[in-house]
Amino acid sequence: MTECLFCRIVTGEIPATVVHETDEVLAFRDIAPQAPTHLVVIPKAHHADAAALTAADPALAGRLLAAGAEVAASEGLADGYRFVVNTGADGGQTVFHVHLHVLGGRAMTWPPG
Ligand code: 5GP
Ligand code: ZN
Repeated sequence: MTECLFCRIVTGEIPATVVHETDEVLAFRDIAPQAPTHLVVIPKAHHADAAALTAADPALAGRLLAAGAEVAASEGLADGYRFVVNTGADGGQTVFHVHLHVLGGRAMTWPPG
């Protein structure tokens, strides 16, 4: 059994509110939303972070961004949204299965904290 939280969401072992699914990507609602809309988009294949994903399968990294844009549109984020890919400890990454945060539904501040 895998220890990876997001791999366990992919298998259905841990439930999630899924909003979009293909054979290679999954989008679900973040359990601790930081904006009115906060989705997490992952490749189903396990890659630890953005560097590992882009090294192993750059085309899949592109399709992950495309899926993020698609779910943002389907969530009605017509005024814009933010993509975030936290990477490593200083980047705030807590789950080491690469994921794209899609945040929207309010104006995002810049710079982030
Ligand atoms: P990170 O900090 O690694 O960029 O993002 C991990 C995200 O996963 C966090 O925003 C956290 O709220 C979310 N998360 C952690 N555990 C769960 C869970 O069991 N279900 C869902 N849907 N999200 C989770
Ligand atoms: Zn994983």
